[in-house]
Amino acid sequence: MPCKICGNKLVFIEGCSEPSVCPKCNGIRIVERPLAVEISKSRLDYLYSLIVEAVKQFNKNRLIAFLIWEREKFSRSFIDEYQILEIPKFLSYSILIKRIMCESSFSGEIAANHQNTNELVELFAKYIQFLTDHRHLEEKT
Ligand SMILES: [Zn+2]
Repeated sequence: MPCKICGNKLVFIEGCSEPSVCPKCNGIRIVERPLAVEISKSRLDYLYSLIVEAVKQFNKNRLIAFLIWEREKFSRSFIDEYQILEIPKFLSYSILIKRIMCESSFSGEIAANHQNTNELVELFAKYIQFLTDHRHLEEKT
């Protein structure tokens, strides 16, 4: 649709109150795609550098642990709503990750793989069930 004043093509600008505006009549500079990509990339690089700068102010391990925990809470709300995943096993992954991150002095003798990792999580899920049972038991006394 052309501009009623100058006949130029109208453009859509996200967040603008007008449905479409004339770049010429409104003094808006339109750039070619390669320059637009370059500007966008520069903006992303700058924003990422700000994020990295902010993240580096945290205690790394604690931040990671909290990120995992937040992911867990988010996942719980999803699971509660849809009932798709096996909840105790799913929760065990994150709890185990969090606990492992708190440990030190690993020997490194066993390389984690699909099988032994799943076996470990299955065992840990049982432990969590025992722990849950224990807490319920404590609450009743
Ligand atoms: Zn115009």
